[in-house]
Amino acid sequence: MRIFVTGGAGFIGSNYLLYMVNKYPTYEFINYDVLTYAGNLENLSQIEGISNYQFIKGDITNKDLVDKLLSTGFDAIVHFAAESHVDRSILEPDIFVKTNVLGTQNLLESAKKFGVKKFVHVSTDEVYGSLGETGLFTEETPLAPNSPYSASKAGSDLLVRAYHETFGLPVNITRCSNNYGPYQFPEKLIPLIIANALADKTLPVYGDGLNIRDWLYVEDHCSAIDLVLHEGVNGEVYNIGGNNERTNIHIVQTILQELGKPESLIRFVKDRPGHDRRYGIDATKITTQLGWKPVHNFETGIQKTIRWYLDNQGWWKRIQSGEYQQYFDQQYGSR
Ligand code: NAD
Repeated sequence: MRIFVTGGAGFIGSNYLLYMVNKYPTYEFINYDVLTYAGNLENLSQIEGISNYQFIKGDITNKDLVDKLLSTGFDAIVHFAAESHVDRSILEPDIFVKTNVLGTQNLLESAKKFGVKKFVHVSTDEVYGSLGETGLFTEETPLAPNSPYSASKAGSDLLVRAYHETFGLPVNITRCSNNYGPYQFPEKLIPLIIANALADKTLPVYGDGLNIRDWLYVEDHCSAIDLVLHEGVNGEVYNIGGNNERTNIHIVQTILQELGKPESLIRFVKDRPGHDRRYGIDATKITTQLGWKPVHNFETGIQKTIRWYLDNQGWWKRIQSGEYQQYFDQQYGSR
């Protein structure tokens, strides 16, 4: 199999490549990534130089380059590339529409032109909007995105669906809950809290801290995408989630306890506009129809994650020293 992976230098894409390149030594993987602030080839140093893996720098909105590469014949596209951070989408929505909507359409068009046999579109539970105190998102829940990020992902999901309905493109859409684990950019909740707590900096928590997310260890997401790539029924959507609903404040308190740091570091900040209250995933379809099962529960996953950030401080400190600091100060005020 030849697989064209987009966004493979980001958090989930790099975990996916590390998982797949070792698991399938006879497959060929091309990692196509433009390397935005969130892309980091350092994540992939373990597979650099391995013969079934190659990196190509490029933008998914670049029609000529995408066509040129896909014309060489690929069995599958696994599409991770996106602008992925909700807070940034509030500051700068344009790039989210360009990359997430137009970039996805460009890939779909090229996949159609060159007869790609499977297009796996990696999406998010955020396209469903916000839940009340009860109920879960199923694949039939209507899309009701509330942030420019989730709206742009919903737009891309609908284009993927349309390319299946109109042109018969063999697609799957996966909608996963919040991921955590190694190589997550330190603007996202869990690595942000770990890094700031270790440096005894204040820990910004939105609103009352009671927003609920369902958390999945990234490797479990990768195993689900692997299954969908091989076994997914064309045209189907698969929800992926860990049955690990936690409030944001619970996450922060758990990390502080694990690190032996005081709760006085917590600082409640003005809530994010349009902040979804609760996400919860019903993953019955992928578990019963494809036999997927996550290996980690939240307690084991968070300990493994904290250990990784403790053992790899150079990785996130290098990131924090650049453009990221400017963004952080703009978002939460400098300290
Ligand atoms: P990330 O921001 O860490 O990585 C995104 C990657 O895409 C980066 O390597 C970046 O350089 C690349 N990229 C961005 N724009 C590009 C472009 N125009 N052309 C080529 N490459 C480009 O994101 P992530 O957290 O790894 O998320 C990956 C995918 O999974 C996204 O589609 C996201 O919507 C989805 N998702 C994420 C989560 C989560 O919790 N992180 C949950 C569910 C779904």
